[in-house]
Amino acid sequence: MTDPGMKCSRCKAPARHRFRQFNARFCDPCLEVFFQGQVARAIKKYAMLEPGQRVLVAVSGGKDSLALWQVLCDLGYAAEGVHLTLDLGEFSAASLAASQEMARRLGRPLHLASLEEMAGHQVQEVVWANRRQFCAVCGGLKRHFLNRLARDLGAPAIATGHHLDDEAGRLLGNLIHRHQDHLARQWPVLEASEDGFVRKVKPLCRLGAEEIRAYVLAHGLPVATGKCPQSKGATLPYYQEAMEYLDQKMPGTRRNFYLSFLRAKAGPPPAPVAGGVCQECGAPTFVGTCTVCRMLGRTAQWKETRRAAQAGE
Ligand code: AMP
Ligand code: ZN
Repeated sequence: MTDPGMKCSRCKAPARHRFRQFNARFCDPCLEVFFQGQVARAIKKYAMLEPGQRVLVAVSGGKDSLALWQVLCDLGYAAEGVHLTLDLGEFSAASLAASQEMARRLGRPLHLASLEEMAGHQVQEVVWANRRQFCAVCGGLKRHFLNRLARDLGAPAIATGHHLDDEAGRLLGNLIHRHQDHLARQWPVLEASEDGFVRKVKPLCRLGAEEIRAYVLAHGLPVATGKCPQSKGATLPYYQEAMEYLDQKMPGTRRNFYLSFLRAKAGPPPAPVAGGVCQECGAPTFVGTCTVCRMLGRTAQWKETRRAAQAGE
């Protein structure tokens, strides 16, 4: 929301953007300085990347990851995109098209891989066979195969578009349910481990959805609009809505909630120690076979049982 006569907090020119959670107003040029500055600060503060380093941006085609790719390129990183294609109708087609258009505009490589080909099953089949929520299964498969792709590509780090509002919502959920292990690991960087976790970084962790939307508009980024048709059962949006409510009543609450949580921590959590590699796929894991391979194994069994039943065996 903007008022006529509003002045830029940096240069006093007429402002076009008002960010309540920062108690700041910006004109277009100063929005750019502010946005890049917040990302550069996060990268430095949490030691995410070396200057100019190669990084693999996980590009979904949505506003967050396109903004991330743009700003990392503008800050001088050798940012390549990776997009996991899915087969969820129009939404997936639009996501792929947006990712490709962004790659073309930036003149950067975009690596493509089909999630379902890599998994060997449709996400929906894995969901049915394992009786789990679609988003949990899809998210788990994406993390697993993104890690594998990054290893295959020899990329030193994966950057995702998770932002302040995502992280604050997740923090609220973790605190409410006392997920101590998740709280211990919640940090803008997940270190690499010797057994094969690639380093994960969240350079947008100091910026919220409102700031990202303004940046996307100012740059005219070719974002895929529309919602995943399978996102109905996800619970994270409830926590984000609760945080949004509080932030509307008391601007800055969400930002303070998340950043003070980070400040109160002694530092980054230790690198994950998986202790072994999956005997089927070689991914790092705590147990003999990784969660994803176990899910995929159950899916193969479930399909075989169904096939036999249909054939009357
Ligand atoms: P989401 O959980 O859908 O909000 O996605 C969080 C982040 O994961 C996005 O900002 C992207 O960085 C990454 N991501 C989500 N979907 C994909 C995809 N299909 N391919 C590559 N990266 C993705
Ligand atoms: Zn495995």
